[in-house]
Amino acid sequence: MIKETKRKVMKEVEITERTEYLCDLCKEEIMDRSFFSRDSFRVKLTRGEVFPEGGSTVTEQAYFCEKCAGTIKTTLESIGVVFEMIEKDY
Ligand SMILES: [Zn+2]
Repeated sequence: MIKETKRKVMKEVEITERTEYLCDLCKEEIMDRSFFSRDSFRVKLTRGEVFPEGGSTVTEQAYFCEKCAGTIKTTLESIGVVFEMIEKDY
């Protein structure tokens, strides 16, 4: 007869946290920690298929400091990109 005993063990796992935000153009640290809530300067391209039961996507994205975001916007506008202005109050 084999006697089995259950016990709880702690498992160590490695996770990745983004603790420093660097501009993907000038590599300077983005100091504003409200980056994701108020001042979001990000270019994001997502391709794939999404269905209610699941899907598959690939996303490419880059983050920019405020100065470089201005440069990126000016550059894109110079090749014909028209930015849509969306204002929100809540
Ligand atoms: Zn920058």
